[in-house]
Amino acid sequence: MIEVRNLAFGYPQGGFALSVTALAVAPGESVAVVGPSGCGKTTLLHLLAGILAPASGSVVVDGVDVAELGREDRQDFRALAVGLVFQEFELLDYLDVLDNVLLPYRVSPALTLDGEARQRAALLVEQVGLGEKRCSYPRRLSQGERQRVAVCRSLVTRPKVLFGDEPTANLDADNRDHVMDTLFRYRVEQRAPLVVVTHDRELHGRFDTVADVRELTA
Ligand code: ADP
Ligand code: MG
Repeated sequence: MIEVRNLAFGYPQGGFALSVTALAVAPGESVAVVGPSGCGKTTLLHLLAGILAPASGSVVVDGVDVAELGREDRQDFRALAVGLVFQEFELLDYLDVLDNVLLPYRVSPALTLDGEARQRAALLVEQVGLGEKRCSYPRRLSQGERQRVAVCRSLVTRPKVLFGDEPTANLDADNRDHVMDTLFRYRVEQRAPLVVVTHDRELHGRFDTVADVRELTA
């Protein structure tokens, strides 16, 4: 489902570089990505998600080699196939909860905002306990509520693969568990690979595999 081979990447201007010989994540498999700050966890996730393109090697996600795609095709692929939850939520202040969830449909020409997508957004918002706040703006929400909105956004497009970049780092234990439960439920229901960067050792037991970026890139 996710298969990386001989991947090499370096930021322009000769800064940080990273290479991964082999990495595979099966449908429905969950992987926690760990490693010290600055070791390349976010970079690796962005390579898997098609946000960054490798210099060489292949990154096959749901049967598509993302490394072979040009910039626009990669953006379309990401919109259609990838769900990603950021640490910092990345909500827009001037959009209410539902419109924040539906943001991928506003920014990607590959997605069409139809009644079904709106229904799905409303259902997701309901499922994470924000039904009554669906018309609220982010500044009126708690941290945990904001992250739940971000989780709904990552799921509304029904992605084939799901990524989290320290998605629970700013949350208390209850909200952390709620967010992880939602991501793990999606993984089971859709048999989607789930790859999450997390420093939280208490969470590591939930994952099938714990992968240290330093070992992957050694
Ligand atoms: P982690 O998520 O493990 O903390 P990152 O993947 O964010 O690490 O960063 C790995 C290294 O790449 C760091 O040294 C960081 O400074 C560098 N880096 C991150 N983003 C960029 C960028 N856009 N351009 C150049 N260097 C970057
Ligand atoms: Mg990071």
